[in-house]
Amino acid sequence: MFNALVVDKDDDGKTHAAVKELSLDDLPHAEVTVAVEYSTVNYKDGLCIGPGGGLVRNYPHVPGIDFAGTVEASDDDRYKPGDKVVLTGWRVGEAHWGGYSQKARVKADWLVPLPKGLDTRQAMAVGTAGLTSMLSVMALEDHGLEPGHGPVLVTGAAGGVGSVAVALLASLGHEVAAVTGRPEQEAYLRDLGATQIVAREELTEVTRKPLESELWAGCVDAVAGAMLGRVLKQMKYGTSVAAVGLAGGAAIEGALITPFILRGVNLLGIDSVMQPFANRQRAWERIARDLPMDKLEAMVQPATLSDLPKLGGDILKGQVKGRVVVDLNA
Ligand code: NDP
Repeated sequence: MFNALVVDKDDDGKTHAAVKELSLDDLPHAEVTVAVEYSTVNYKDGLCIGPGGGLVRNYPHVPGIDFAGTVEASDDDRYKPGDKVVLTGWRVGEAHWGGYSQKARVKADWLVPLPKGLDTRQAMAVGTAGLTSMLSVMALEDHGLEPGHGPVLVTGAAGGVGSVAVALLASLGHEVAAVTGRPEQEAYLRDLGATQIVAREELTEVTRKPLESELWAGCVDAVAGAMLGRVLKQMKYGTSVAAVGLAGGAAIEGALITPFILRGVNLLGIDSVMQPFANRQRAWERIARDLPMDKLEAMVQPATLSDLPKLGGDILKGQVKGRVVVDLNA
């Protein structure tokens, strides 16, 4: 028997989450059984712990969109017992039972061997949010971003995606401007490597101007909404925005077409969920190489399975700082 956070739905449609004992027979069928060591709390986990918002297909459900651990049993030649693995995406924790469980059973295709230089806890301090930041930086580099081009903007900077993006870009030698709605997090963001702090209000006011002064050499945007509308107008000529999330809303407002036509700005959509194996492996190897582990440690807030119902609500309110790492054996 082992413990898991199980979310179930009442007859009246209300969801409730509780730590329960399960057996291996309860797990879904798939090739690889993993003893999960760490998982994390992402925005989608907040949705899945609560009413689901269409993400959860069937109840009862075990959320947790990412995890790292050790293979316990495998019907696939690529993995053997004792291998250290990491999983992100593929709708695990949404359509398939996920990482808020001491054991998980998943398809071999969804796993990545843990790269040298990262342990399972560090891999989850990075997690889906950090992998997405790495994929964003790689996309910006593929579109020409290099250190020395000017400040790179990171929105939602004190959140999970933002914190890793700030640390990663700074360690790669970029000047980093961090946008936050939490002025009290300035010291935290400067410690991660931000050289400039931009108040959220400066970028959420909608203006009718078709373009503004060219300020940013690149952007990792976790917020969208009004902020993305403003940021697009402030991008330097020929630069790119990696759009990752919509913590600030799905609608982009303002005179939108001008940055694309008159400044050749690129809007790159980044999705970590369906990334093919080769991309995920390349991104994890670069994380192990490029992300300073002392900065990663500064982002971590530890948690246990029983903390998750509250943390799921906190992340939806934008109140979580950095990365929450759930220790499945605590
Ligand atoms: P977090 O909640 O950790 O961070 C989001 C941050 O956005 C907050 O900390 C806050 O930063 C800022 N924010 C929140 N609400 C608003 C608002 N109304 N207006 C402006 N800023 C706001 O979430 P994550 O970093 O984990 O995820 C961020 C987004 O990225 C989510 O939409 C998530 O679903 C998405 N995502 C997408 C992935 C992909 O593959 N494309 C993968 C992972 C996440 P501050 O307090 O500093 O202002």
